[in-house]
Amino acid sequence: MLYINCPHCGMRSQNEFSYGGDASVKRPELNKEVSDEEWDNFVYNRKSLRGKHLELWQHISGCRQWIKVERDTATHAIFRTFKADEEVA
Ligand SMILES: [Zn+2]
Repeated sequence: MLYINCPHCGMRSQNEFSYGGDASVKRPELNKEVSDEEWDNFVYNRKSLRGKHLELWQHISGCRQWIKVERDTATHAIFRTFKADEEVA
């Protein structure tokens, strides 16, 4: 069982969260001309990394906020969590 430290609610069971995908993907700038390749990369193309990765999760059975979780995709160890609008260095 994984436990995720929600920045809003504290430590909770992973059962209260829903995985939301790769948090490192940047949306193309609004009102900027975007090539088909750039749009495909934003919408569809993802790297399947092994190791430390930044992910989006939603606390669906709690505060319902989206958060960022730094997690190892091989061991499932969770290193840090952030509010969705926090910049991660
Ligand atoms: Zn929460």
